Amino acid sequence: MKTIETSQVIIVGAGLGALYAALKLAPRPVVMISPERLGKGASSAWAQGGVAAAMHMSDSAESHAADTIKAGDGMVDADVADLVTQEARAHILNLTELGTPFDRTENGDYVMSREAAHSFARVVRVKGDQAGAEIMAALIERVRATPSIQVLEGTMAIDLDVTDGRVGGVVLQSADDARSAPLILRGSAVLLAGGGSGGLYALTTNPPRIRGQVIGLAARAGAVIADAEFVQFHPTAMDVGEDPAPLATEALRGEGAILTNNRGERFMQALHPDAELAPRDVVARAIFAQSQAGRRPMLDTREVLGEAIKTQYPAVAEACARNGIDPAIEPIPVAAAAHYHMGGIATDTEGRASLDNLWVCGEASSTGLHGANRLASNGLLEALVFARICAQSIAKSVPETAVSPIDVTFEDGGTPPDPDAVAQLRQTMTTHVGVVRNATGLKTALRTIAALEAANTASVSFLNMTATATLIAVAALNREESRGAHCRDDFPNTFQGQGQRSRLTLKDALAIRSQICKEAS
Ligand SMILES: Cc1cc2nc3c(=O)[nH]c(=O)nc-3n(C[C@H](O)[C@H](O)[C@H](O)COP(=O)(O)OP(=O)(O)OC[C@H]3O[C@@H](n4cnc5c(N)ncnc54)[C@H](O)[C@@H]3O)c2cc1C
Repeated sequence: MKTIETSQVIIVGAGLGALYAALKLAPRPVVMISPERLGKGASSAWAQGGVAAAMHMSDSAESHAADTIKAGDGMVDADVADLVTQEARAHILNLTELGTPFDRTENGDYVMSREAAHSFARVVRVKGDQAGAEIMAALIERVRATPSIQVLEGTMAIDLDVTDGRVGGVVLQSADDARSAPLILRGSAVLLAGGGSGGLYALTTNPPRIRGQVIGLAARAGAVIADAEFVQFHPTAMDVGEDPAPLATEALRGEGAILTNNRGERFMQALHPDAELAPRDVVARAIFAQSQAGRRPMLDTREVLGEAIKTQYPAVAEACARNGIDPAIEPIPVAAAAHYHMGGIATDTEGRASLDNLWVCGEASSTGLHGANRLASNGLLEALVFARICAQSIAKSVPETAVSPIDVTFEDGGTPPDPDAVAQLRQTMTTHVGVVRNATGLKTALRTIAALEAANTASVSFLNMTATATLIAVAALNREESRGAHCRDDFPNTFQGQGQRSRLTLKDALAIRSQICKEAS
């Protein structure tokens, strides 16, 4: 295989984690692998709510950490929660310096939104629901102006290059639909910031590229994966037939929007004392139950926002308009959709994975912050905090070099994923590894994933997807309890006390999967 050698640090991905890490590594040379043009294809640019941080005088990092631990349902690493919440304020100030136009009050204070399971209004926002797009725009401008950062747009990683347990680089392909012959890019260190796994599900809020591929490629190289079973479903994705499903941000419920069904019943009050602001998993299961019962759930913003939704929440208003819904006069139909992967590549407090010379930040990682259920708006925060931690750790480990950009050209070859196989995989995940799970469904899913994988071995991108799908389904099967976002109707109870984080290699997961396939034959 053609090999390119560079002394640059290789960053896989181009979302918030990748961009922020690249800036924190400067002037150390970095090459960034970005499948799309910068700003496109990343969940980060789609984030609506904002970033959780205790910015108000009467709020505190301790309170933020306590809420994070409570939402995580006995699975959060308290030290990580302390670390991340203590650092939150400094990162918001830094993003402000870097040009993010956070919403301000007349006194110049940050406008803080209230989101579910936060005991304080603690989410900084931009132009209502534009936080992700605006933060990304500010960072992209900086990245484009930083000579030490080379961005390879239109490229994607499909494998790690590993020798004797040490990661030396990545295998790249063209990211266009036809793909290309693979080539090896060797660098001084590898940072994976390739996002989560939501798009492995047919019903998702995640951009199409976010399909667990980077978690999968690390797993295929032998990296340990933690908490894979914990996938968060967002309760209020718009049920309008779009793929991905547009999001109606949780901040709307923070403003007082209510959930009703087609009988006009407000069903959350009977289920949780916080009603619509109950933890995300509770609301998602309630929405799912309403959908399953054929009582179409809806988000009603009419009374609290009326026409103001159109100016205060432009992304939501635009998605409504596209689908012929006027939220000022009618409620928005909603469904629970795969949104955030709490699990991912296991990392330590320096952001190091179990393989040498490999770091991970953002949603691809599992740091222990989110436990069984991510607290709203802690996703962007974790990406920021660990991007800087990874950059500092890499800077300590890798010698400084001069900037020397590389030239990458692809040749024809390579096999793209079969769209029908991808569609089947995604439908299997939604049907059997979704909001409510049981052993029968999970085993069916594993057999389907195995069959799809066996029929599509030539597409490495697809193998990365099936690797992550396998890890999620096996971890879900292994966890014989219900906890946080992981709900088993055959094991409805939660084990007493602190939960045990799951840790799996792909080899272990495949052994379980093949046993299940054998049982059926
Ligand atoms: C609709 C929506 C709304 C959200 N709202 C909020 C919010 O308000 N607050 C909050 O905290 N969190 C929110 N989240 C979650 C948050 O956006 C993500 O957790 C966060 O952006 C993850 O950042 P990241 O850099 O890890 O990944 P991403 O921003 O997803 O970036 C991943 C990058 O990796 C690239 N990539 C993928 N595969 C490959 C490959 N094989 N090779 C190379 N590159 C690859 C992608 O193209 C992309 O550039 C939201 C998520 C969604 C989908």
